[in-house]
Amino acid sequence: MREILSTTLLIIGGGPGGYVAAIRAGQLGVPTIIVEGSQPGGTCLNIGCIPSKAWIHAAGEYERACQQAHVSTLGISVQHPSIDSAQTLAWKDGIVSRLTAGVEALLKKAGVRLVRGWARVLDGKTVEVKTDEGAQRIQCEHLLLAAGSEPMPLPSMPFGDRVISSTEALSPRQIPKRLVVVGGGYIGLELGTVYRKLGAEVSVVEAQDRILPSYDADLTQPVSKALGRMGITLHLKSKVLGLNAAGDAVRVQGETGTETLLPADQVLLAIGRRPRTQGWGLESLQLSRSGNALRIDEQCRTSMRNVWAIGDITGEPMLAHRAMAQGEMVAELVAGRKRRFTPAAIPAVCFTDPEIVTAGLGPSHAKEAGLDCIVSQFPFSANGRAMTLESNEGFVRVVARRDNHLIVGWQAVGRGVSELSAAFSQSLEMGARLEDVAGTIHAHPTLGEAIQEAALRALGHALHL
Ligand code: FAD
Ligand code: NAD
Repeated sequence: MREILSTTLLIIGGGPGGYVAAIRAGQLGVPTIIVEGSQPGGTCLNIGCIPSKAWIHAAGEYERACQQAHVSTLGISVQHPSIDSAQTLAWKDGIVSRLTAGVEALLKKAGVRLVRGWARVLDGKTVEVKTDEGAQRIQCEHLLLAAGSEPMPLPSMPFGDRVISSTEALSPRQIPKRLVVVGGGYIGLELGTVYRKLGAEVSVVEAQDRILPSYDADLTQPVSKALGRMGITLHLKSKVLGLNAAGDAVRVQGETGTETLLPADQVLLAIGRRPRTQGWGLESLQLSRSGNALRIDEQCRTSMRNVWAIGDITGEPMLAHRAMAQGEMVAELVAGRKRRFTPAAIPAVCFTDPEIVTAGLGPSHAKEAGLDCIVSQFPFSANGRAMTLESNEGFVRVVARRDNHLIVGWQAVGRGVSELSAAFSQSLEMGARLEDVAGTIHAHPTLGEAIQEAALRALGHALHL
């Protein structure tokens, strides 16, 4: 056993939650150690947000080249497009390396010590880390749990061989001829679309009666249509029974009980992720839970004093920007500042083609909350910029209180709408009313003009409709 290290703040997990907490704590002069068993940057930078968006971009570029080779309304001529997926993979890995090296540099700059190795919790103030140099014990005043999440397994079809998770799907050795995706949620549809654009035959098996069940049907309908156009087959209200005896097809039970065999060279299992709460001594703390997740209050405190938790380990929504915001707040609380985690909205983006973005309350959520709201949407078919981008599908929708016009939610579906999320969140955090957005000059020609037009339409006088 090496000399025991002592610190004020000890963070387990170097993902977006943990590393942001560490940087902020370091900036505030809090002695901080962060422990990471794999790579700094966590799921998001290494095997999540960033590599998936790199593949989405590459697959989109390849698809465009293929379309232009076939027929181009723009007059561009492309001959025999092909993609070297090994080179794409190397490009993606390059981005990941640059970002994870950047995180290490930022930790260093903030004066944070990074200990590499898997941590085991001994008690609420002591952790033992298995490092390459041997066991390292660390004692702390504040313990921050930021160990993230892991793919949910399906008992009838365990991971292994041709059944893969998003991690393997993001580093393919080759693109399979036939991919069956189990789960029509974020991962299944983002990566299912990538594989389809790269040439695989893709089927998606979803238990619910529609894809992306966490979004409302008006938002998901353009995505469903686009999946159909791409040739992705959807099997809704369907149950996966497992692989067939030969192991080369997925047995699927449809709504009526009939069984279908879906031939598969690979199966991407994407039925959700679960908080990583087992196997590293956390059980011994007997922290209160909310289902599988650690229960936290508005300051990310767990049920044990000076033990904090942030990010995916605390459950839904499992989003990187939520983890980061919580991490920043906990660092400030440990440094003695007064903070509370009460955002007006945590935006969510699904990077399908078209993309979906939501912030705040949708029409049905507003109703459930007892609010009488105006709901107004502006279609991209009436937006000049969308036309010049060859994409006029989708819309921006605003939800605002009828009595005082306070905006309570924004939603959009369409190509490139992820970039509207900042405007949506800012308007909600700043308590904007319809008149504020309607009276703001939006640059022309931009997709953002649809935001202003949705607000104008809610007030009864859209200009371009
Ligand atoms: P993580 O990022 O999971 O980090 C936890 C870290 O803790 C890991 O590095 C792990 O190695 C380490 N760790 C765990 N246990 C120990 C231990 N005992 N000792 C030492 N280290 C330990 N979110 C978005 O907002 N936008 C997206 O576009 C998006 N895309 C995604 C795409 C995919 C394919 C996936 C899988 C996820 C995606 N997410 C996205 C979700 C996002 O990655 C997570 O919400 C985010 O990474 C959670 O951050 P975290 O810090 O809580 O945990
Ligand atoms: P998800 O919750 O988004 O989707 C899972 C889907 O699987 C759901 O539609 C669910 O109904 C379905 N399902 C569950 N059990 C099933 C079964 N037995 N058979 C068929 N379908 C089944 O989960 P995910 O796609 O695995 O992603 C995990 C998490 O990662 C997400 O919740 C999200 O927080 C995060 N993520 C975010 C982004 C993003 O922000 N763009 C991208 C990827 C992942």
